[in-house]
Amino acid sequence: MENKYDVIIIGAGVAGLNAAYELASKGFTVAIIESKPRNKIGDKTCGDAIGLHHFKELGWEPPSNVIDHKYKGVKVYSPSEKYGVVVPGEGVSVNRVKFGQWMLKRAEDHGAVLLDKHVLVGVTYDENGIKSVKVKPIGKNEVIELFGKAFIDASGAKPALRTKLPLEWPISDRPYMTDYNIAYREVLELEKPLEEDIEYAVIYLNTEIAPGGYWWLFPKSSDGKIVNVGLGVIWGVNNYNPRKKYEQYLKNRFKGKLLHVGGGMVPTRRPLPTLVWKNVGVVGDAAYTVNPVHGGGIGSSLQASSIVARHMANALEEGEVDEYTMWRANHEYMHVYGAKQASLDILRMYLQKLSNEDFEWILKNKIVDGRTLYDLGTKASLVEEIVHNMSALLKLLSRPSLLNMLRIVKNYMNKVKELYLDKYPDTPDKLQQWIEEVDKTFDEYRQLIKYDPGSRVLW
Ligand SMILES: Cc1cc2nc3c(=O)[nH]c(=O)nc-3n(C[C@H](O)[C@H](O)[C@H](O)COP(=O)(O)OP(=O)(O)OC[C@H]3O[C@@H](n4cnc5c(N)ncnc54)[C@H](O)[C@@H]3O)c2cc1C
Repeated sequence: MENKYDVIIIGAGVAGLNAAYELASKGFTVAIIESKPRNKIGDKTCGDAIGLHHFKELGWEPPSNVIDHKYKGVKVYSPSEKYGVVVPGEGVSVNRVKFGQWMLKRAEDHGAVLLDKHVLVGVTYDENGIKSVKVKPIGKNEVIELFGKAFIDASGAKPALRTKLPLEWPISDRPYMTDYNIAYREVLELEKPLEEDIEYAVIYLNTEIAPGGYWWLFPKSSDGKIVNVGLGVIWGVNNYNPRKKYEQYLKNRFKGKLLHVGGGMVPTRRPLPTLVWKNVGVVGDAAYTVNPVHGGGIGSSLQASSIVARHMANALEEGEVDEYTMWRANHEYMHVYGAKQASLDILRMYLQKLSNEDFEWILKNKIVDGRTLYDLGTKASLVEEIVHNMSALLKLLSRPSLLNMLRIVKNYMNKVKELYLDKYPDTPDKLQQWIEEVDKTFDEYRQLIKYDPGSRVLW
């Protein structure tokens, strides 16, 4: 086995495989380290839904045989399930294993090397960056050292590489537990096929069933027989257990043959302050590139990994890989997704404070329509219209606290967007100062809405 590569990527999820393809297709030698066996690559507990706009933005799309089902949009229901809103926007349900296998083949066809059943166990570094990674083949009593010019952490929600780096490196950021949702989901072949909503991915807001998250019903076949049902709850609060919640509220409602079951976690927060540091890039869930409100991360993982890989390739070509030569990757990511994501982190915390009564009221009174929700998702601005509509009603119903909070949310969403777009530092030297301003802004906001972030993760 070779032990020297241009780039070593940890994790063969969508983010790692996409980065591997981008770099290998430009002629760099790439190794992908993955703990799963080859035939399990792609296997991931997920809702499997992705908006087609992501592929348009990426300029490529997966072959039709990896698509299980197509959606016209998303429906969002109130806790009583009496009131709903249709959010337009075409999407698909991907077959994660077939998608993963297709992405793996695409990377390998361009020369990337997969080391499956290998776990990252250690790292050596100095002030210039990572020198080598130590990986252990599963089932063998040996550790292999691999050397690279550059490294990418694409190891998912519990990052394996960046957490082994010094805390002074800003990519080793430690988030709050409440920055994550923990989830449980089942893929089932139903005894009684769905009759309604087959063409929509359906989200149910219900703080009893899914506190700090939502539960979902995503059809996976046009005959309504195969469904992906699951729920996500906020982590680190009241010891909520998503599996128990599923068994209590959803198990009896969706009976059938179990095709896949699993739990997982997903970061629901703003992105890492920088996706590059020294000779390291961080992409996908490891860099928290997930939409904080709906938890969708496939599309944004692909976007982030393309951007970081492209800048890393340029830096490798120039012969100098560090945060200075790759810095523009941050600007690009913040523009295409990161700033919106950070702004939606503000909204996410507000939504996590709402009660079932609030959600019922919002959907019953048609405070938001599908188009406005679509705009909110794509532009991340709390549209004047919503604030205006709610203001009138909230005054009428004398719910000033909700109205005040909403104004605060709007202000902070705008502030944060500005921080991630216009005020994002133009050089790495100003990053620390910017991080302090971001932290101050989020601390202020959390205090205003009385949001307790709880403890930091221990890894
Ligand atoms: C329950 C659930 C539902 C979701 N639903 C949706 C949805 O409907 N739509 C959507 O867009 N997104 C959804 N997401 C989010 C989406 O799945 C992720 O954002 C996306 O898959 C992240 O890809 P990734 O490549 O960054 O990470 P991952 O897919 O997690 O890949 C990381 C890889 O790294 C490997 N790895 C980790 N540690 C090591 C190590 N030490 N050594 C070697 N290998 C290692 C892992 O085995 C894994 O293969 C959901 C997430 C969850 C948990």
